[in-house]
Amino acid sequence: MLIDSHCHLDMFDDSIRDDIVKNANNAGVKYMLNACAARASFEKIIEITKKYDCVFGAIGQHPEEAEREGIVSKEELYTFISKSKKIIAIGETGLDYSGENFNRNLQIENLLNHIDVAKNTGLPLIIHNRDSNDDMTEILSSEYKKSPFKAIIHCFTADKKMADKMLELGFYISASGITTFKSAGELRDVFSTLPLEKLLIETDSPYLAPVPYRGKTNEPAFVVETAKVLASITNTSFDEITNITSENFKRLFELDIK
Ligand SMILES: [Zn+2]
Repeated sequence: MLIDSHCHLDMFDDSIRDDIVKNANNAGVKYMLNACAARASFEKIIEITKKYDCVFGAIGQHPEEAEREGIVSKEELYTFISKSKKIIAIGETGLDYSGENFNRNLQIENLLNHIDVAKNTGLPLIIHNRDSNDDMTEILSSEYKKSPFKAIIHCFTADKKMADKMLELGFYISASGITTFKSAGELRDVFSTLPLEKLLIETDSPYLAPVPYRGKTNEPAFVVETAKVLASITNTSFDEITNITSENFKRLFELDIK
């Protein structure tokens, strides 16, 4: 069984979503987690999780969306989380310092709000981290020290040092299609050293299509390609790595699914 632990089904056109979900199921992807980037998508994500048994959802706001839409309040987060039992995560949220005029203070405030909600609900936090390793490590570590919470570092692309810090906190590390890119040798080296019981796999679709689909719109079915690469990096078989990452997903989200 394969699970795509991070995709954005809400970003696909309504007219093709049935096919996208079907393609995934046909490729062996039994479950998907629809991560949330914007407040504007909250309703849509609830609707999608209600429509498809195989899709779980998250509620949260990406740092760049926080800059565009204004920070979502904790009350709004709680309201939408409580609308469906299939909302199993908070996020994605985090820090993204890749833009030219990013607003560091606003992003940190937004991240801290989400951490607070993750602590209070017990739901794992989905972390987006881009060009922000130092602040991210510092904030996650100091918040964790105050009171623990669960988290996934989604689409992990940082170095071994950052991975080790996250593992110390018990966080999970998710491999995206980037691990299949020719240029990602260093990232594959990092993944080869990580404990198998902390690994997840994802597409981040419709973004980041893996090899051999680069340039195309990514979709959950393509998580198969990331699983193949992860199997070869970790010296496991395809069946082993897909079972391990699925068991990890179930353990993290405390799901009794088959
Ligand atoms: Zn995402």
